[in-house]
Amino acid sequence: MDLATAGPMGSAVPGAAYDPVVASQPDVRDVLVVGAGPGGAACAYWLADAGWDVVVVEKKHFPREKTCGDGLTPRSVRQLTDMGLAGALAGAHRYRGLRSCAYGMTIELPWPQHPSFPEVGYMVTRHDLDQLVAERAAKAGAELLQGTEAAEPLRADSPRLAAPLTGALSDGHLPPCTGALVVDRKSHKSREIRARYVVVADGANSRFGRALGTVRERRYPLGMALRGYFRSPRHDDEFIESHLDIRDSTGRVVPGYGWIFPLGDGRVNVGVGLLSAEGRFKGVNTSHLMNAFVDHAPKSWALSATASLGPPTGGKLPMGLSVAPRVGRTTLAVGDAAGAINPFNGEGIAYGYETGRLAAACIGRALSGEGAAALDDYERQLQDAYGLYYQVARDFVRMISHPKVMELCVRTGMHSEPIMAVLLKIMANLLRPDERGAAEVAYQALAGVAKAIPGW
Ligand SMILES: Cc1cc2nc3c(=O)[nH]c(=O)nc-3n(C[C@H](O)[C@H](O)[C@H](O)COP(=O)(O)OP(=O)(O)OC[C@H]3O[C@@H](n4cnc5c(N)ncnc54)[C@H](O)[C@@H]3O)c2cc1C
Repeated sequence: MDLATAGPMGSAVPGAAYDPVVASQPDVRDVLVVGAGPGGAACAYWLADAGWDVVVVEKKHFPREKTCGDGLTPRSVRQLTDMGLAGALAGAHRYRGLRSCAYGMTIELPWPQHPSFPEVGYMVTRHDLDQLVAERAAKAGAELLQGTEAAEPLRADSPRLAAPLTGALSDGHLPPCTGALVVDRKSHKSREIRARYVVVADGANSRFGRALGTVRERRYPLGMALRGYFRSPRHDDEFIESHLDIRDSTGRVVPGYGWIFPLGDGRVNVGVGLLSAEGRFKGVNTSHLMNAFVDHAPKSWALSATASLGPPTGGKLPMGLSVAPRVGRTTLAVGDAAGAINPFNGEGIAYGYETGRLAAACIGRALSGEGAAALDDYERQLQDAYGLYYQVARDFVRMISHPKVMELCVRTGMHSEPIMAVLLKIMANLLRPDERGAAEVAYQALAGVAKAIPGW
């Protein structure tokens, strides 16, 4: 993946001219980023770091709560390190890998060696993490407007998109967007922010994206998850733990997992995630699932109603590049707004950082003179980076949506540490490009089937 970003002073495009006429219009910013979660903040950081004039609007004030498992995998750690935040991570709880539990069996799987990713993960609450990265973007030069909501997209031809909003164009692109009508949430005053390029980074619900015309592909899997914080004597465990045999009220094993992630500060993050393919499991009550999981979690974690630090909160996980279009002539969607979560494991922070960075690189090229063609390249790069992998993952989710298949897979895997190590490498997207070990061979076989029989 080429994640380099061109800047106004150093165009990556030979002979491409920076357009001083448009850029010098006082009211037109180079880039408006809507949302300062992982996707938006990373995108703003890379653009500002390259010297572009970036404004990020975030409807909340940092620090703010965000429902999440708070788990940073090696992929996230790599991105945070690249943004100069390795030092900030040093004080956070560091963990070595994943402990998988099911049907009375337990396997500890350290993170695998990889040439590009570290062998460690960290636990940082989103309360702290998102502030850290947003401030990093601001320090690099992005203007961060907190408590400011992008209420409506603006269009070149009319001051505002006419209601009802028009949706994607017939060529499969998002309509041209030249900024947003933003509202200060405290004063309720609104104003227009105009920009040459707009990044949609407003998360899973993505109201701004929907107003522009993004749609979630309903045939693709969707995750639903719930999490809460608990006090626990094992708050500094060196493995995050996942339970692969969570059950609904009828005792049936459901596709998904329960987790206990130690935060190292007296607390653990406890949650359940459910995968729904083709609408199946829509009726499952995640609150009941969560209560049952807490009741049946290993006693050593000492989870109970009295150890709970507040009611659990939940959210949706749009996955497998399920949201499209992701590209317009002036617009790109990143992170959850693009449905970029990994369907294998529900991880989305790293993919927010990565897609935000890819978008920044393409917009940098567009601003350097390549124009809209550079934005189309964003979709190509997404497909190169995740297209086939997510296709395999979506097929996998569809397969384990059948409870009997899920149970068979888990029971088989849990009897063999090498099989689970292979699965961890595949599911955490940590396959090595420089080696053909068991995981790489297994993945190639799955990818071969996915290519030959799409949607088998
Ligand atoms: C219960 C749960 C557990 C999870 N656990 C993990 C985990 O452990 N590890 C992991 O990697 N991933 C996890 N995920 C997924 C992860 O949280 C997301 O993939 C990630 O937050 C996506 O980042 P984002 O920047 O795209 O969106 P978000 O993090 O949702 O950020 C969007 C931002 O945009 C702001 N915003 C929204 N609309 C507007 C607007 N109109 N104007 C201005 N601002 C706006 C929001 O306030 C928010 O700050 C979990 C998800 C859930 C629901």
